[in-house]
Amino acid sequence: MKENRRSFVKKVALSSLFLPFGLPTNLGLGAIPKERKLRVALVGLGRYATRLAQGIALSQHCEVAGIVTGTPSKIPKWREKYDISENSVYNYENFDEIINNKAIDVVYVVLPNGMHKEYAIRAARAGKHVIVEKPMAITAAECEEIIAECNKAGVQLAVGYRLHFEPFNMEMMRLGREKVYGPVRHVEAALGYNTSGIDRNDWHLNAKLSGGGCLQNLGVYCIQGARYVTGEEPIAVTAQLAPVIHKDVFTEVEESIHWQMEFPSGATATCSASSAYPFDRLLASADKGIFELSPAISYGPFQGRTRGSETKSFEFPMTHHQQVQMDEMAKYLLNDKPFPSHISGEEGLKDMKVIDAAYKAAKTGKRVEIV
Ligand code: NAD
Repeated sequence: MKENRRSFVKKVALSSLFLPFGLPTNLGLGAIPKERKLRVALVGLGRYATRLAQGIALSQHCEVAGIVTGTPSKIPKWREKYDISENSVYNYENFDEIINNKAIDVVYVVLPNGMHKEYAIRAARAGKHVIVEKPMAITAAECEEIIAECNKAGVQLAVGYRLHFEPFNMEMMRLGREKVYGPVRHVEAALGYNTSGIDRNDWHLNAKLSGGGCLQNLGVYCIQGARYVTGEEPIAVTAQLAPVIHKDVFTEVEESIHWQMEFPSGATATCSASSAYPFDRLLASADKGIFELSPAISYGPFQGRTRGSETKSFEFPMTHHQQVQMDEMAKYLLNDKPFPSHISGEEGLKDMKVIDAAYKAAKTGKRVEIV
């Protein structure tokens, strides 16, 4: 297994250097010249966009080329820091004019969840490739609308699933899917933070803007983890809202939730998300051992181990998640290759179907099948 890990690390390192230029580029957007970087416009300049911009600045193949903001006071600093042209600065009203801006290749939507659909669709209609933050939208129906609009516009669509490019999580995928410890029988995944001191005006507390609470914002990673470790799609969900601790804060959205998933092979998963208490874990139990990460989902540093006939620690480099994600995503767009299915809009839709079902299960107390 050590050999495998070593060759895996080498593969990741090599893949971040490998950019096979010279392929035809025509996605209806005109060719993207190979000599230059992928030009990204960020929509919404909040906490996560700030982190993404750092990652983009560190990346080899991308640059922050445009911004869309409703707060004019943010513009000078962002323009100066990332050397953004005055012509590539938009607000939410004139955003559609980006259709005329040849200096933007892809629009990255980093707005509150409830705004993802509108801005992803407006970006697609402006002929730009689209990356949308997780959760992709707030219902499966919204995800379907985004996918349909991107297809209609002939642009590519991805969800910002940073952990798909993160070595510790990639190893969990490999161990599960290659059945290194035999078939995975059960997954435990949990993510939580105590955010009860949050500003009461924060969109996370607003059902319309967030589409829900910790299930949408944190639970999506647990669903992802269970799906990418088993390599299977859940067929049914049961769920329970946990007792609310901070009743004055979480009035519109759930504070903590626990849910269970069933997979076609008979594998099961138990998951938790909380905005009141911390978790950060992904564990898989297989016939011949356990493999686990803790921390697993936050920005790290991660720790992982396998426990079979002997216990071994994961030995992988710590990466800047957003830098690697953007470099990897850029390779597809710069080479006119479709995004792989594991980061596509279809992937976001699959997670959202589980979220829809979990909310229904929590509300009704019934087992809900996922169709
Ligand atoms: P944030 O509140 O820090 O930023 C949101 C931005 O949207 C702000 O710039 C705000 O001004 C702007 N905005 C525009 N209209 C708004 C409105 N009506 N209400 C509130 N804000 C409005 O939030 P964030 O933490 O940056 O989250 C943005 C997105 O990024 C969310 O979808 C979230 O789930 C996602 N996210 C992803 C990760 C990750 O690790 N992949 C981490 C954090 C957040």
